Amino acid sequence: MHDVNPARLSLDLFCRGLRVDDSCRLDEHARGIQRTRAGLGSGLELCIPGRRKVHWVNVPVVEEFAQRSPWQLVLRDEPEGAVYRLLHADRDAAVPVWLPPTPKWYTQKTSRGVEMAQVGVLQGTYLGVYVGGICAFWSGKGHDACQFCTTGVNVGVEEELTKSIEDVVETALAAKEESGITFVHLNAGYAGLDTVASLEPFVRALKERVGVLVGVQATPALDLSLYDRLRTLGVDHLSFCYEFHDVDYLETYCPGKQRAVGQDTYLRALEHCAKLFGRGSCSGEIIAGVEPIASTLRAIDWIASVGAFPTVCVFRPLAGAGMEHLPPPDPADMEVVYREVWNACRRHLVPVGMAPNIEVSLVLTPDDAADLVEDAGVADRLWRAALAMGRLVTRPRFAHRMKAAPRPSLPAREEDLRKAKLETL
Ligand code: SF4
Repeated sequence: MHDVNPARLSLDLFCRGLRVDDSCRLDEHARGIQRTRAGLGSGLELCIPGRRKVHWVNVPVVEEFAQRSPWQLVLRDEPEGAVYRLLHADRDAAVPVWLPPTPKWYTQKTSRGVEMAQVGVLQGTYLGVYVGGICAFWSGKGHDACQFCTTGVNVGVEEELTKSIEDVVETALAAKEESGITFVHLNAGYAGLDTVASLEPFVRALKERVGVLVGVQATPALDLSLYDRLRTLGVDHLSFCYEFHDVDYLETYCPGKQRAVGQDTYLRALEHCAKLFGRGSCSGEIIAGVEPIASTLRAIDWIASVGAFPTVCVFRPLAGAGMEHLPPPDPADMEVVYREVWNACRRHLVPVGMAPNIEVSLVLTPDDAADLVEDAGVADRLWRAALAMGRLVTRPRFAHRMKAAPRPSLPAREEDLRKAKLETL
């Protein structure tokens, strides 16, 4: 049987994980399990075909809760060839899925001799790259680190500690050539309130030499003029991970973030950038399944109300993280959350799913969440039609933004000038 809602199935897999049967030949057929960045992408990448679109999902398979999952991945010999299917312990389900293979460029080396999978990895159809050193919240005993995160045990171990601009450019070129990526997502841990500035050279190089859409995820800057500079360099997307709307939860689970940065700084920067870069260009990132659902729903409405889209991660109790002992959320609660992601974007007229070929495996995007709303009314149908039109109209604009081209030079930043002045005294 196969009449499964791929968005609902993705949520079930995010929350319950997956057992992998011995019949599966993951070494041969799948992308390796990549434990990089914060660790959210440390599952098995798979694709669930749906009526409207294919859903990409990174499914937990190594965590303890995944070993008790009712879902099992099997490889079956069928008349049309070998097929991967998801079987359910209690339901009559045998859902066909695809496993995206490991791209050849993963094992290629950059001119510095670094394996490209140590520089960046595919998370769905885009390239994710963690730049900068290990997040400062992990220094010392790591008491300031966000409790869901495993950056401090991944960066420098599972992936290269320091990526040069050349490493990133060469990896992005290979990923564009072979995997057809259209988007590079740069993220960095905490390195002071100037983290954003440290990403400028990477953005410039990707825009001038690769020609891709570029997203930046970094601790928000206090000096909002830094975002004008990113806009001039051609940044396409900014995301602000403020994690929890309820400040008590932020303080408990992200002590460094709340103390050194503060939720207000995140919200101020997000609101500013949503205006500066335009509706639907920025996102506020939160985690669902830890704080009360009512707080998550408030966050979603607030993010959409300022013209940004909510990126909601299903809480994953990662092996090795401070919160590994907490249970994963209930899929039914997550469905309430993601229906609201789609509905809030519609209510506040935040365009979603415009950029070409960006499928995200770590979360259900607002565009994926549309598949949860099967009882669409008139307003919803009109909104879907408007988005389809928007995709057509914006196609030339995205094509233009994906052309490699020189960027204007930027004035030196004030503090650089101040430093230069001091040095000449
Ligand atoms: S800011 Fe938090 S989530 Fe981000 S890398 Fe640092 S500890 Fe991890």
